[in-house]
Amino acid sequence: MKKLIVISIIFIAFVGIQCSSVPVSGRSQLSLVGNDKIFPTSFEQYEVVKKEGNIVTGTEQAQMVKRVGVRIQRAVEQYFVDLGEPRYLDDYQWEFNLIDEEVVNAWCMPGGKVAFYTGIMPICQNEEGVAVVMGHEIAHAIANHGRERISQQYAAQAGLGIVGAVLGAGTAAGPGPELIMQGAGAATSLGILAFSRKHESEADKLGLYFMAMAGYDPQHAPKFWERMAANSGGEQPPEFTSTHPSHDTRISDLNANMPKAMEYYRKSKN
Ligand SMILES: [Zn+2]
Repeated sequence: MKKLIVISIIFIAFVGIQCSSVPVSGRSQLSLVGNDKIFPTSFEQYEVVKKEGNIVTGTEQAQMVKRVGVRIQRAVEQYFVDLGEPRYLDDYQWEFNLIDEEVVNAWCMPGGKVAFYTGIMPICQNEEGVAVVMGHEIAHAIANHGRERISQQYAAQAGLGIVGAVLGAGTAAGPGPELIMQGAGAATSLGILAFSRKHESEADKLGLYFMAMAGYDPQHAPKFWERMAANSGGEQPPEFTSTHPSHDTRISDLNANMPKAMEYYRKSKN
């Protein structure tokens, strides 16, 4: 029993120092595994998705996804340069692809690998709509939400008394591909839960700022979510589930963050 208590205290102390803070929001998050353990597997899994999915090339929509992605990527890179942290994005390998599948979904895997599905394009409606979704997805990756979820799963397993094994797995081998896909909110077929409400709200806020920094009018964001709400009759994948958070909460939160976003937008036009 004493041994278990000692292990628990060591673990709590370990967890206590294994935190990092989210850019822009400044929120402290659990970080039990490094991006160097996550990104390589993430990049491998993205290649599998590309091989198995029907990647659209050459169409106006496919070019738009790439164009918006690169524009927001560059704005985010500039943001970190201005912040005096140009190395923050060193390990990211950005890529933006459109997959021919009629599902209303998009996601970004840890390290910057983005996929849009053709089914979401009519709701995006235009380039600004694509920028709303792109900003949101890039924000999940910048805020390391996938890594945080993986860390939380490690911590939960450790709580069951397998501290040594879990930390061994976490620090040596790194998380497996399934956990990476879950971390991205990408593995919908595995019945994976959506990102938490906290992660979604944070991605909305950061995404709004990022699209504005890239010169896209952030006032398109509430309009996009209204269109998404109108479309929510059918089944939606976890990343865009209609109840999590509610569309109304989402839209009022976006409007609350709009003055700051408009500052970034005006600055991008100077
Ligand atoms: Zn999301």
